[in-house]
Amino acid sequence: MSLARIVVKFGGTSVANVERIRQAARHVKREVDAGNQVTVVVSAMSGKTNELVGWVNESSKLHDAREYDAVVASGEQVTAGLMAIVLSEMGIPSRSFQGWQVPIHTDDAHGAARITEIIPDELVRRMQDGVVPVVTGFQGIVPETGRVTTLGRGGSDTSAVAIAASVGADRCDIYTDVDGVYTTDPRIDPKAKRLNRIAFEEMLEMASLGAKVLMIRSVEMAMAHKVRLVVRSTFDDPEAPQIAPDGTPGVPGTLVCDEDEIMEKQIVSGVTLAKAEAKITLRDVKDKPGVAAAVFGALADESIVVDMIVQNISDDGSVTDITFTVPDSEYDKSVRVLEAARTSGAIEYARVTGSKGGAKVSVVGVGMRSHAGVAASMFKALADKGINIQLITTSEIKTSVLIDDEYAELAVRALHTYYGLDKEDA
Ligand code: ADP
Ligand code: ASP
Ligand code: MG
Repeated sequence: MSLARIVVKFGGTSVANVERIRQAARHVKREVDAGNQVTVVVSAMSGKTNELVGWVNESSKLHDAREYDAVVASGEQVTAGLMAIVLSEMGIPSRSFQGWQVPIHTDDAHGAARITEIIPDELVRRMQDGVVPVVTGFQGIVPETGRVTTLGRGGSDTSAVAIAASVGADRCDIYTDVDGVYTTDPRIDPKAKRLNRIAFEEMLEMASLGAKVLMIRSVEMAMAHKVRLVVRSTFDDPEAPQIAPDGTPGVPGTLVCDEDEIMEKQIVSGVTLAKAEAKITLRDVKDKPGVAAAVFGALADESIVVDMIVQNISDDGSVTDITFTVPDSEYDKSVRVLEAARTSGAIEYARVTGSKGGAKVSVVGVGMRSHAGVAASMFKALADKGINIQLITTSEIKTSVLIDDEYAELAVRALHTYYGLDKEDA
């Protein structure tokens, strides 16, 4: 009898070459040997998707998104086949599946498609027959057109969680190159500490504020479908006893779970950094109802995602300034859109200014809900380091500031220490 049904996902670094695919496969073998039913989801080899995207852009800046997907989805096809070969060679019957073979249905937003439905029957049947299906992450198919889609960068996490939900998995293990979710990116701050547990809401904020360890949509989906999500390392010894963070036999790594499964709620659980944030200011905007709607409507019509927004109150009610941020990659387009709107008379303002290369640093924690003064203490910690704050936004469980890129890492480390997140032996 099967003990559990598990979906395991291996990221790019974990399948970077055949040797690493073997290492990953040993984790699968351990689960299968324990009597579990396993479906594997794989990313492309690390660097592969970047290379493919580069080739597409080199071919044409203005390419058809359907062809972008045709090219970019290929990376996962290679690793799925290789993983199935390696598993079979280890004596574990296995078969690869591309998105369309499962099938994983998506909408037709090529390049950033959303999964609409997964038909799990074939995967379940294979698992019940003792076969390990290996599914390509990151891709699906539009049922109406039959065309291949991709889910946006980092999308294999979302594939894995969606498959876990559809096959009714007991757990979804995200294997990556770190052994869990940390209080901040361990590449930025060596004092970062691994969290044993993190609440869905916190993980959602951290993912959307720059912690790319999980794709945002995968966290949303896990939260909506109550998937038990674990982040753990491929590079741990696959044959070692499986010890949970509390020292008992179990799954090592970080469990992403409901807030009420976390006993001790931190005021701040994590610090995140997002770079390449461009700042745009509209000077002397006519201050009248409908102005903000016109400005942000014009940008939304061009699918430009705006992040932080600040609008001043005008002294005499005639003109005001509006400042907001967009990703650096959308800066030129945003300025063009706004200038065109001024020329056509759709928005009245004096001039547009701005710059690329800002850094957004955020502190996140569910404990902020019941704790006053987190924003104030954050500003104090930054002021002590002489770091100037350009913009501020807050929500119930996070505070973000936009600062000069030059001070980004310094700010992260300072806040990490300030909120007592540094690991003990650091
Ligand atoms: P994969 O290829 O396995 O999907 P990613 O590169 O997408 O892996 O995500 C893992 C990386 O996320 C880590 O190497 C780490 O540098 C980065 N990262 C950013 N923030 C965090 C965090 N708070 N905790 C853990 N890792 C983080
Ligand atoms: N290979 C894709 C990417 O690099 C998807 C993933 O790795 O999750 O974005
Ligand atoms: Mg990833």
